[in-house]
Amino acid sequence: VTPSPDELLAALDPEQRDVAANPRGPMCVLAGAGTGKTRAITHRIAFGVASGVYQPQQVLAVTFTARAAGEMRTRLRGLGAPGVQARTFHAAALRQLHYFWPRTIGGAAPEILPHKASVVAEAAARLRLQLDRPALRDLASEVEWAKVSLLTPDSYATAARRAGREPAGIDVTTVARLLQVYEDLKVDRGVIDFEDVLLITAGILAEHPDVAAEVRGQYRTFVVDEYQDVNAVQQRLLALWVGDRDDVCVVGDPAQTIYSFTGATPEHLLGFTSRWPGARTVTLVRNYRSTPQIVSLANTVLKAQGRAGASPRSLVQLQAQRDAGPRPVLERHDDDQAEAREVASAIKARIARGVPASEIAVLFRTNGQSAALESALAEADVPYLVRGGERFFSRREVRDAVVLLRGQARADDGSVPLGRLARDVLSGAGWSPEPPRAGGATRERWESLQALVSLADDLAATNPQARLPELVADLAERASAQHAPTVQGVTLASLHSAKGLEWDVVHLVGCSDGLLPISMAEGPEAIEEERRLFYVGVTRARRELALSWAASRNVGGRASRRPSRFLDDAVAILGEGARSAPRGGRGSGGRAKAAKVTGPVRCRTCGTELESAAERKVGRCTGCPPSYDEATFESLRTWRRLVAAEASVPAYV
Ligand code: ATP
Ligand code: MG
Repeated sequence: VTPSPDELLAALDPEQRDVAANPRGPMCVLAGAGTGKTRAITHRIAFGVASGVYQPQQVLAVTFTARAAGEMRTRLRGLGAPGVQARTFHAAALRQLHYFWPRTIGGAAPEILPHKASVVAEAAARLRLQLDRPALRDLASEVEWAKVSLLTPDSYATAARRAGREPAGIDVTTVARLLQVYEDLKVDRGVIDFEDVLLITAGILAEHPDVAAEVRGQYRTFVVDEYQDVNAVQQRLLALWVGDRDDVCVVGDPAQTIYSFTGATPEHLLGFTSRWPGARTVTLVRNYRSTPQIVSLANTVLKAQGRAGASPRSLVQLQAQRDAGPRPVLERHDDDQAEAREVASAIKARIARGVPASEIAVLFRTNGQSAALESALAEADVPYLVRGGERFFSRREVRDAVVLLRGQARADDGSVPLGRLARDVLSGAGWSPEPPRAGGATRERWESLQALVSLADDLAATNPQARLPELVADLAERASAQHAPTVQGVTLASLHSAKGLEWDVVHLVGCSDGLLPISMAEGPEAIEEERRLFYVGVTRARRELALSWAASRNVGGRASRRPSRFLDDAVAILGEGARSAPRGGRGSGGRAKAAKVTGPVRCRTCGTELESAAERKVGRCTGCPPSYDEATFESLRTWRRLVAAEASVPAYV
């Protein structure tokens, strides 16, 4: 049953109603976690449609992740507004690029480069720069930063100097030259990169008034969720879409800015009213998501953000609305394997008590942490899914590394200690003893390889005779124990991919200095971004929150850890976690077979149910391009075929 406009408004509180009942005109919602920002804009769109202010296909709702876009489409369908375009900036731009490229540039839009690394390496070689892998990866991240910040090879050096950037310790004028060579090489190869999708689309809109007019004729109103994390090129694209009209509504929470390391900035959110002076601004403070106990913990994190100098506008304390629940707990474990095992057994016990697995999440700082958790959950026979990333053993870098290890295992005379052997082989896959200085995908890849090193060390500790063949067999066994993709399992997610989402039960693992904040976060700004990540993690839980940390962790050798500094203020609020699980060493019980869970096949990026056989085959809907991280030429080609099939529909919406 489609709700009436009045029914839509009745589901909101007075401030949220202010957002929804004014479906036109510039609007800025600046509000804390769990206060119903996403709910308010979803109802605003549904209200605009239900009251006939606009047609569903005239709305472009931009969200931060493909999964959030999928969730928004589902919510809108439920509110009687199917057909609204809810997309990421990237997906929306890619549609337009494919559609307008032939007309404005000619031919078909080129392939997208899955990874910058090889082209950056070639550019460096042309400049006769002798660089190691971590330096090359830092440069790839720097190229990305420059491009999303709308910097060209000409303007880069000045801006980079002003921002105090020192990628790979290389002089910024040299980096500027590298940027130019990188761009030239791409043109030679006839490919574009991930950022080009946004840049070229913006360029087409700016240069071709007819195209801009067509897009503006299609979309009459724009809504942007998680606006605190937009970067310069996304903001430029939005401005071009909106044109000289002002039908744009943005919502965000500066206290949740977690992508500034890649060039995002909350300035666009905080400066919205100077750009659109007539804008209505709304603040929401009632938190509907979490128990008062969890809200109180979130508020201490906000206070700490304030002491560290965050803008007061972003730090309005949250007011809890829900009934009381259990106290959040803090648990200490001897090492990260024990932490994973005990989290898995606590989850198993909860599921046995009737909590649906899909209402439980385990959140962590780096994707590398998921290996231990995946193994522990598989061993405990708990179904799980990995959100926003591939399963550990499906990750490209892990698959490549396993191939290398297997090759070496055949050749090796099985004499050097396993740990050293594994390190030698994995160096060939991009592992280095020191973590890379760069963040983002680069760091995640390193973490994955480091997790393999840890697995090798663990195997060597339990079986001193083990050599590469045993390691390869151990990895194969772990990989085969992984569960088939399902959305009914426990969610494993990095903090970055968890934003905007919520679960009844949240385990936030790895709350130790070195992981959260991560060791590479140097300087007050980087530490504050880590604190905001911690805030995002804490505010995902509806009812139960368990924080945990491990006293030692394998990071290129066993390192001892102390609890995260972010816990300092929280100790008074936190209860001590019950240590339920018996301590059994690895190999003490046989590894259980994975539980089979059947259900609808869903897009592994946005989670919507897949209908066509072609989509099911690639496990992705046609609306979702492969993520930067996991894109390979192969999957890209399959996906492009799907897009091509769909392109016979004569519109880009
Ligand atoms: P985040 O900052 O994490 O993105 P948010 O501000 O977007 O959070 P929502 O996800 O929209 O918050 O809402 C949080 C939860 O509170 C959801 O479960 C939502 O349905 C519920 N909620 C929001 N507003 C209300 C309301 N007025 N009455 C009842 N429940 C509400
Ligand atoms: Mg939200």
